Amino acid sequence: MKIAVLPGDGIGTEIVAEALRVLETLDLSFETESALVGGAAYEAHGHPLPESTLKLAKEADAVLFGAVGDWKYDKLERSLRPEQAILGLRKNLGLFANFRPAICYEQLVDASSLKPELISGLDILIIRELTGDIYFGQPRGRRTASDGHFPGAEEAFDTMRYSRPEIERIAHVAFQAARKRSKRVTSVDKANVLETFQLWKDVVTEVGEEYPDVELDHMYVDNAAMQLVKAPKKFDVVVTGNMFGDILSDEAAMLTGSIGMLPSASLNASNQGLYEPSHGSAPDIAGKGVANPLATILSAAMMLRFSLNQTEAADRIESAVKHVLAQGLRTADIWSEGTTKVGTREMGDAVVAAITKKTITG
Ligand code: NAD
Repeated sequence: MKIAVLPGDGIGTEIVAEALRVLETLDLSFETESALVGGAAYEAHGHPLPESTLKLAKEADAVLFGAVGDWKYDKLERSLRPEQAILGLRKNLGLFANFRPAICYEQLVDASSLKPELISGLDILIIRELTGDIYFGQPRGRRTASDGHFPGAEEAFDTMRYSRPEIERIAHVAFQAARKRSKRVTSVDKANVLETFQLWKDVVTEVGEEYPDVELDHMYVDNAAMQLVKAPKKFDVVVTGNMFGDILSDEAAMLTGSIGMLPSASLNASNQGLYEPSHGSAPDIAGKGVANPLATILSAAMMLRFSLNQTEAADRIESAVKHVLAQGLRTADIWSEGTTKVGTREMGDAVVAAITKKTITG
């Protein structure tokens, strides 16, 4: 097993270091190789995704990714900005399916801005299509408007598009994931207004007929945004396009209290995947040793489960995380009165200790 390790910028290096320590604690044989990505790669090689980094990622069984970005790169031309590295990796590795679980840990119920009864026991999975939609659709650009409300004015435009096979494959991913859970899929669209999402709805419905054991319902994205804060536990698997998924998965993340707790996986057709926390590089707290490493540690667990076929090791990490939360250990982002505030490294230590002392069960 080969893991490409791309820590990136800001807190990326701090949190990935902890995830690696946790992985090393498990009795597994794997090889890791690190490379620069994002702003760090731009500084060293003049590009956020150098050829050597891309080659390493392509050849690995899985990529463990930290985060990229810093405000200081905001003035760079778009193709050189750190965030382009993520888009480049997704595109080149064909990572079309993004899994974002939003789980509310019992000990963190009070960290949510919603009432405890609404989110206690929350466990939903948002599956976002990742390589199509308006983020990648061509043509796009700026030009002088030839028609519209202000002919002759400067305008910008993007293209929303999805092909049938793109929708089919993400729908299959969602139905298969639902089979391992409570067999319910909600497909989120905007079929009432957008042609693209009328096709989406038609194709998801057709694919759904191949999964008669899975219950499918459809919801418009504006209603889904509302229902996520009104009654989030009604959802189980949510499948949607790239842009709607981008927004809804961040909304779902906040239901659980802290974005510092949420892992994500992006997979291609051969289960090769990129695993990263759902948050960014947090330049405001970088270098202070206070970032929450649990989202990255949980991303490493997803990596073991989805790409490296090490389900038991993944379970051990997830149990260890629950154990440290039950011990009352909290990084600043999830801290509350009566719990013990720890830094990034101490949180990593605690997870490692929970695994090595085998103090955890189930
Ligand atoms: P962010 O997720 O980096 O930070 C948002 C807030 O959450 C900040 O207050 C930050 O301190 C806090 N936070 C984030 N992760 C945390 C953690 N693990 N522990 C404790 N607190 C945490 O989002 P942002 O501030 O909008 O963006 C910062 C940079 O990250 C930008 O350059 C942005 O483009 C980039 N970004 C990168 C990714 C990625 O690499 N996948 C994703 C989102 C944003």
